[in-house]
Amino acid sequence: MKFREALKSVSPYVPGKSIDEVKREYGLDKVVKLASNENPYGASPKAVKAFKSYEDLHIYPEPDPEDLRQKIGEYVGFDAERIVLGAGIDGVMENIFKLFVDSSDEVVIPIPSFPYYHILTRVCGARDVCIARKEDFSIDVQAMLDAVSEKTKIVLLCSPNNPTGNIENEEVVREIAESCNAVVFVDEAYAEFSSKNLLKLAEYENVVIARTFSKAFGLANLRIGYAIVSEEIRKEYLKVSTPFPLSTPAKLAAMAALDDQEFLRFVVEKTREERRRVSKKLMDMGVKVYPSEANFILIETPLKSAKLAEELLKRGIIVRDCSKFIGCSEHHVRVSIGKKEENDAFLEAMEDVLCS
Ligand code: PMP
Repeated sequence: MKFREALKSVSPYVPGKSIDEVKREYGLDKVVKLASNENPYGASPKAVKAFKSYEDLHIYPEPDPEDLRQKIGEYVGFDAERIVLGAGIDGVMENIFKLFVDSSDEVVIPIPSFPYYHILTRVCGARDVCIARKEDFSIDVQAMLDAVSEKTKIVLLCSPNNPTGNIENEEVVREIAESCNAVVFVDEAYAEFSSKNLLKLAEYENVVIARTFSKAFGLANLRIGYAIVSEEIRKEYLKVSTPFPLSTPAKLAAMAALDDQEFLRFVVEKTREERRRVSKKLMDMGVKVYPSEANFILIETPLKSAKLAEELLKRGIIVRDCSKFIGCSEHHVRVSIGKKEENDAFLEAMEDVLCS
């Protein structure tokens, strides 16, 4: 078979191990997963109820549901005509790439960041131009701007950034948006957990702000993402989107989730509280913890991350070894913030590993 040349430089996305896999492999009864930044509180019960209420599964969904766009628009403060939908941020991003990225183009990515950015860029046959972040993981604006050329079609920013947890400074992103013709794609998958967001920058025609229902809303399995784009981009987006990107049960769940702001507040408050507590306990153990505005933290330990992850697996805790993330070191591990009892199990296992 003759596959596209571009695929030679691509490795498949590696998701975190599942709880069942680890139970089987290590012969454990109880396993805690803190590896995929999922919402440990689940979705709003109202969203689950709305999802279950729909039975006409033999009927195709609406292609671009206006009621959901309207509700999202109210939530983010933009007109429904500025909202596009997709199968998670991953799906939205794929469509944006279809709009702008040809083979031999370039996509500028400050590293480390979300691994799928590199995969998607290479699948398109384009080149991922990787720019190292500063020591505190903030963006090196000058290096970014120096890297932008006529071939640059997208600058990919993530705030809060996965896996480092820091947010981008609004003025920095503004400077990038104003200084280049490329699309500045701002991935705000974790925005709800953060003290600040970059929504204001959607005023720029070349800025796309992407959001998801997978994280704070706890609907990762339903694959619902959206972005705020210019009306011009939206028109073109509808040409490249798959015909029915969102199922009706998913749409109903998303709308109910948006209506349940009380549940969202509960999730965010609990996560922040636990993020503070876990970070402090780890620092007390002598572990380096990077400040985070997301539902995960990046830590650095003297142990190699592969070894630490393996030792934690033996103790029934799944975390993310980041040593294979482009731009991370061999000592970086990302840990999702779970429920109190899950975090306690992780902290206990960490203590055990570090003391043995
Ligand atoms: N962006 C970032 C930064 C992520 O961490 C993730 C999920 N791990 C995604 C996008 C994908 O989100 P979705 O489920 O909306 O496709």
